[in-house]
Amino acid sequence: MDTRAFKRSLHHSERYNRRGFGLGDEVAGTLEQAYQSDLIAELRANGYELRDGRLTVRLAEAFGFCWGVERAVAMAYETRRHYPSERIWITNEIIHNPSVNDHLREMNVQFIAVEQGVKDFSEVASGDVVILPAFGATVQEMQLLNERGCHIVDTTCPWVSKVWNTVEKHKKHAFTSIIHGKVKHEETLATSSFAGTYLVVLDLAEAQLVCDYILASEGGASPSAAQREAFMARFAKACSPGFDPDRDLIRLGVANQTTMLKSETEEIGRLFERTMLRRYGPAELNEHFLAFNTICDATQERQDAMFALVDEPLDLMVVIGGYNSSNTTHLQEIAISRGIRSFHIDTPERIGPGNRITHKPLGGELESVDGFLPEGAIRVGITSGASTPDRVVEDVIRQLITLSKS
Ligand code: SF4
Repeated sequence: MDTRAFKRSLHHSERYNRRGFGLGDEVAGTLEQAYQSDLIAELRANGYELRDGRLTVRLAEAFGFCWGVERAVAMAYETRRHYPSERIWITNEIIHNPSVNDHLREMNVQFIAVEQGVKDFSEVASGDVVILPAFGATVQEMQLLNERGCHIVDTTCPWVSKVWNTVEKHKKHAFTSIIHGKVKHEETLATSSFAGTYLVVLDLAEAQLVCDYILASEGGASPSAAQREAFMARFAKACSPGFDPDRDLIRLGVANQTTMLKSETEEIGRLFERTMLRRYGPAELNEHFLAFNTICDATQERQDAMFALVDEPLDLMVVIGGYNSSNTTHLQEIAISRGIRSFHIDTPERIGPGNRITHKPLGGELESVDGFLPEGAIRVGITSGASTPDRVVEDVIRQLITLSKS
């Protein structure tokens, strides 16, 4: 499908909006009340530090709501004002934050039902309004909604659109897109739908497997049938239909989900560059490799601030954000990689009752830990993912203050 032509025609449709409704001032007060925090503003003004009794809280110097999320949430609120009585749907959580999504439900914005991993659009009718979330929607979903006669409000972050443009460029020049991302994450699903031939790699280890396969054909050799079978078994659910590793790993372009770990994305880009350089030589590198870093600014800033924070002496870290939020999980990974006792929670209610916290360990299931705050003076680092409002961070800090005094 010519996704560029489809996007062009959609952008000219009267039933499509990606700029909001000019009601920013009208919704600003509601948004401020729901999501902003005086305590956090105070902390920012005080060098990102708060002392209360035996507790010192150190906030990362970049954390929480990013520009793209603020914009998406504001557009959703504007949509309700602009369409006061129409049915409004959203194709997925607007962002990965439970409190924001609960607010939208209270405003009677309905979420498209998902049955066994498949979205059920059967209830959506012509004339309904459908909001696309900050991390986008697949081109097939947009087509379906457009053909059904829905009004589409597209809050896709421009950083995500930039990734789509990148993979479309790969497609145009017959390069396979290697996408560093999580294969089931909505942003990566959407990005793959705009790509031509693609392969999703989760991490450096998977990227290495792909590079090993490429180098198996060095010097005129061919990968064995067993190597090919093992490769396809590993990546069967992470590639475009009909993917052939012997045909489709010759011209590669790298792109990434905007919220991956920046250092890993850079390393993966360098690994593919080195591999193609070795396989095809410097004179032909440009014919075989295209790199483009599509990690967004907000993700970079939050990860950089986290690296600075974990260099400080901390007794523990609390990382706040939705459990399916990719950028929050990577902040947690940074703390764990430094050996810091770190707890990923999604809401303030995860602290308590008593000196207990219920958190999600990296890659594990929710678990409760007693003896959460140690005795004596304690220094707690705090950060939050790009989908977490300041109000939630404030509530976590207030819980910590109360607990430290009990
Ligand atoms: S994390 Fe980045 S890509 Fe995602 S919404 Fe925020 S600014 Fe946009």
